[in-house]
Amino acid sequence: MISFSNVNKWYGDYRALTDINAEVAKGQVVVVCGPSGSGKSTLIRTVNRLEEIRSGHITVDGKDMHAPMGSAQLNRLRSRIGFVFQSFNLFPHLSALDNVMLSPMHVNGVKRAEARDKAMQLLERVGLAAKALSFPAQLSGGQQQRVAIARALAMEPPAMLFDEPTSALDPEMVGEVLAVMRSLASDGMTMMCVTHEMGFAREVADRVWFMDAGCILESADPETFFLKPQHPRAQRFLSDLR
Ligand code: ATP
Ligand code: MG
Repeated sequence: MISFSNVNKWYGDYRALTDINAEVAKGQVVVVCGPSGSGKSTLIRTVNRLEEIRSGHITVDGKDMHAPMGSAQLNRLRSRIGFVFQSFNLFPHLSALDNVMLSPMHVNGVKRAEARDKAMQLLERVGLAAKALSFPAQLSGGQQQRVAIARALAMEPPAMLFDEPTSALDPEMVGEVLAVMRSLASDGMTMMCVTHEMGFAREVADRVWFMDAGCILESADPETFFLKPQHPRAQRFLSDLR
């Protein structure tokens, strides 16, 4: 579903990703972990081309994201891949409901009534039907992040990308966001998640990718990764967490 082949990324003369070859299969949940600066955000941002790559290919649902294309086509492709960041980036002047309705109406031309029904279903799914008419400033961080997830889902993405979706949240709100992610995973959503929530990785991930210095050093099922990490860097990373 998401496939990286021989991907290299440079920021000027700094090599941020080296020869990435990896695949997130349909319905799989991959958790990307590794030390700060190892390239996790860079990797996930190349998927919907928020970052350009120097060489290699990245396909999502068979579409080559880094093929030459105009900005309209890129925006269309990008709008279909759900991306949830650390900061929720909701439109502050729009209600939760309007935030979720916006892209389907403006990008896909969905009629207002239909967009509204769908958005209400999605808000219900993330446990926020009662907050549909609230504005972002009236919602907690965890609630805003759940609206952001509903907004991403409104475009019916084939895959969802998460870059540390809980790391800006107060601890008591982390669980409610992870619960939504867990339910998406059990519904079969293809997901690539950068997270420091190792409990989530252990329970939900099908694969864990460990990155260091721009390379994926280890790709393993969570049981193997947490109990018997192969690479010394991964062993050190895990022992530092404990
Ligand atoms: P963290 O856990 O702190 O979020 P990360 O694994 O997500 O770290 P990245 O943000 O992908 O790391 O950064 C990887 C490397 O690329 C770092 O050394 C960083 O300084 C560098 N880098 C990231 N963005 C840029 C940029 N726009 N220009 C130059 N260097 C960058
Ligand atoms: Mg990062």
